[in-house]
Amino acid sequence: MAIDDTPSSFFAPWPDRLRHSAIILLAAGLALSALVTLGELPPIPAAVVFVLIAAAALVPWRLHDTAASPEMVRTEDPVEAAAVNAIVAGMPDPAVLLDRAGRVIHLNAAAAQLAPALRKNELAQFALRSPEIVSALREAIATTQPRRATYLDQVPVDRWMELVITPVPVPTRFGGADKCMLMTFHDLTPLRRVEEMRADFVANASHELRTPLAALSGFIDTLQGPAKEDSRARERFLGIMQAQAKRMARLIDDLLSLSRVELSAHVRPDTLVDLVPIIRQVVDGLEPLARERQVEIEIDLPEPPVTIAGDREELLRVCENLIENALKYGASGGKVIVSLTTAKASAGDGAPEYRVKVRDFGPGIAPEHLPRLTERFYRVDVGDSRAQGGTGLGLSLVKHILARHRGRLLIESVPKNGATFTACFPQIKPTTVA
Ligand code: ADP
Repeated sequence: MAIDDTPSSFFAPWPDRLRHSAIILLAAGLALSALVTLGELPPIPAAVVFVLIAAAALVPWRLHDTAASPEMVRTEDPVEAAAVNAIVAGMPDPAVLLDRAGRVIHLNAAAAQLAPALRKNELAQFALRSPEIVSALREAIATTQPRRATYLDQVPVDRWMELVITPVPVPTRFGGADKCMLMTFHDLTPLRRVEEMRADFVANASHELRTPLAALSGFIDTLQGPAKEDSRARERFLGIMQAQAKRMARLIDDLLSLSRVELSAHVRPDTLVDLVPIIRQVVDGLEPLARERQVEIEIDLPEPPVTIAGDREELLRVCENLIENALKYGASGGKVIVSLTTAKASAGDGAPEYRVKVRDFGPGIAPEHLPRLTERFYRVDVGDSRAQGGTGLGLSLVKHILARHRGRLLIESVPKNGATFTACFPQIKPTTVA
């Protein structure tokens, strides 16, 4: 399968052949000249002998080999050369080089994995399962024009693929060019998934907004019509309308925060902030809610400062979401403990980190929900969350903020025995927490 770079084949150019035969011609010339000079040979026969030797030397010596070994001719084909093979093998996407009839000349490992039935020297049309690929390939071969096809492969899992067939002229041994077909596959599945997620997100967001909006316009109709003169009903409805309007405002607020955090996800905050006053501020702010829910908040904080590189507003949001969730969903436990400690990270390099832990003693969360809690709009109980004024975006926001701070969120829960949400932050310098 090597390229034949010896220029002595039948079609090698004359200057090359002369160069290769120069020694023979020189030696013959010198010997014949010497014989003529010594009078051993007349000049005319010497000239005839020289012409014969020259002709013999210039006859392409590979002519015999070529005729004798057709297998060699095949393997010397530049189309099958190691360089072409290496290029196809080095392509990141599945790639197959076909000859004009659609026979596989080269294929890379990714192509072999995608279509295990593809074999060298066999027709690709027989090995490819998808009718879309086969028809695109047939068209490309028939027209020698580029072809594209997008198709869905459903076995073993859904995969969207784009197939591009490009005719490529490959030089032949005879100095011409052969039309081969380079078939490459691009996996569009990740793009599709992102697109689906975006569409899901828009659908969820508009659904969440539409619900309070529908409630608001329903109450407005009632107040303008049947309940126009009913002052007690007006009071009650206005209260509900205010709660719905607050819910919409909160949802928009959360959506905006989420998109802001996502936009700056790659920029790590560099301002030094102390975690202790942030936690105190949030706990103080949530005291009225704790009183209303009859929950006692216990705090266990070290002496300040406990400094990390962070964004103050975002850290307030993290603490607020976690403590508020504990008060809302874990109220039945009557107690919430908020603590700040130092621990060695169990993951990664085991570097020490600060941990803000929020523990409640409520009903806890069933294990099957735990991995999905940080998904946008994911709620264990949608009705309960809505009743509590939740948007389903809080923990997703927490996760994104922590990722921006190079931290992580740990969630542990034993059903009927409460839940613990821990926000972990990497330390920037030797520990300052006792
Ligand atoms: P929400 O706006 O609904 O509170 P979150 O993203 O903050 O949205 O929380 C998602 C869901 O996780 C909540 O709807 C709730 O079902 C569950 N959850 C969060 N915190 C707790 C907790 N401390 N105890 C029990 N369930 C919780």
